[in-house]
Amino acid sequence: GALAAVRAHLSPQLALLYGMNGTGAVEADGAGARLRLSDGRRLLDFGSYAVTLLGQRHPDVVRAVRRELEAMPVSTRVLGNPTTARFARAVVDWAEPDRLTKVWFGLNGSDAVEAALKLARLATGRTRVLAVEGAYHGKSLGALAATWNPRYRRSLEPLLTGVSHVAPDVSAIPEAFAGPEVAAVLVEPVQGEGGVRPLDPGFLRALQDAAHAHGAFVVADEIQTGLRRCGPRLAGTDSGLRPDAVLLGKALGGGVQPVSAVVATAELYRPLTEDPFTHTTTFSGHPLGAAAGIAALAAVEELAPRGDRLAALLAAGLEGLARRHPALVTEVRGRGLLWGVEFSSAPVAGHVLMELGRAGLVVSPCLGRPEVLRLLPPLVATDEDAAEALSVLDAVCAAVPD
Ligand code: PMP
Repeated sequence: GALAAVRAHLSPQLALLYGMNGTGAVEADGAGARLRLSDGRRLLDFGSYAVTLLGQRHPDVVRAVRRELEAMPVSTRVLGNPTTARFARAVVDWAEPDRLTKVWFGLNGSDAVEAALKLARLATGRTRVLAVEGAYHGKSLGALAATWNPRYRRSLEPLLTGVSHVAPDVSAIPEAFAGPEVAAVLVEPVQGEGGVRPLDPGFLRALQDAAHAHGAFVVADEIQTGLRRCGPRLAGTDSGLRPDAVLLGKALGGGVQPVSAVVATAELYRPLTEDPFTHTTTFSGHPLGAAAGIAALAAVEELAPRGDRLAALLAAGLEGLARRHPALVTEVRGRGLLWGVEFSSAPVAGHVLMELGRAGLVVSPCLGRPEVLRLLPPLVATDEDAAEALSVLDAVCAAVPD
């Protein structure tokens, strides 16, 4: 019932926001967090599923891709490409260069998850994988097995065998490791699609310790939370997560080019070192994505102070919102520039989503928790953008009928 309600609200909102009427999107022009549609409507983008971390058309990313496109030789994995090599160096140096020294490139988040699952199985000779209840890791068949929401899994079972889910509670961990040996633990430091749930640092560390005690690899899915979305370069760092691999995607190509990465220890990466043909995909390391990625990583670092300031404005503003609308907003939670506003019910959240769209503010629903709306402002948003988003949210909440 609740899901149907939010779904019923979703398609008209998308139609409203993006001008889609079954035939495709209209032209949009914009910069930073702003979009202008061809019919003149202005939108403030605090949604876009974490892709537009650098806003629309970040000039450095656009310039880098244009330069690469004009200079790019026809390049295959056989010939290699210097831009791809530079990107590999840049990603490793940016993440945890002392431990995570290897990188594999994919084109989307699910790709990175598939690669990590294969590496863990090959490197350990084991087949079991543990994920966390509420997790979202993608919808390709392997990644889907690690995704929690039964809505996406049910009609496709049996999925990849050997994948199970542990409740995000320290007391559930020993039982989860009982049985056949585990190859890898896959975890999002803050569950995004699962309703913006920051996992307790104590749970994350206990899960990591148990994994390492059992000889299992820890894979941090930072596809949504990484790249300073949550403040630090990687969201898990503050919680003491020292994973054997970090997965990046979404904003890695600056919102311009699709690209994802598995940044791994040499030990986990070993199957690929021994035989690079173990896991390949034709466009892996594509130079346009690599050029975008190099520029995006530099831009993310340059914008870090702006992100900290925005994060403080957002946290204070959303806490105020929860205080002013206690019957409507049951909780606000988040880190940095990833916040969830939980409403009293899914239909209420659906209604608010629609009204925000009408008022020109784009936010994301959560795929697994329809009562939660997700705010994902870009690092380039201004103080005025944040103030406007908060005041639109407040006005829409104030106008929700009892
Ligand atoms: N992992 C996480 C944490 C995600 O948020 C997503 C996408 N929402 C994915 C994996 C899958 O990425 P993609 O949609 O690019 O395949």
